[in-house]
Amino acid sequence: MGMFDYIVTPDVKCPGCKEPLSGFQSKDGPCGLDTLSHTEVDNFYTHCKCGFWIQFDRLMQTESDIPGFAMCFRKAGSQNWENPEDVI
Ligand SMILES: [Zn+2]
Repeated sequence: MGMFDYIVTPDVKCPGCKEPLSGFQSKDGPCGLDTLSHTEVDNFYTHCKCGFWIQFDRLMQTESDIPGFAMCFRKAGSQNWENPEDVI
């Protein structure tokens, strides 16, 4: 009985500190603490040590680092989701 699954993704960097991101999780699968590919879920997220929350949502077309998924992020203390294309 778990609350989420672990998600394996291609390499992707934090939009805040540019460090490689890891530790992705999703509540979109069986939530049995299984390890799934990101292609098996429609949504996954992680927390960077710089304070950013990073989330990916499946899209039909996207320019994000992971084909088929769009990244958005939330800075520490912020309630607002932002898209990295807005801050480049
Ligand atoms: Zn970061």
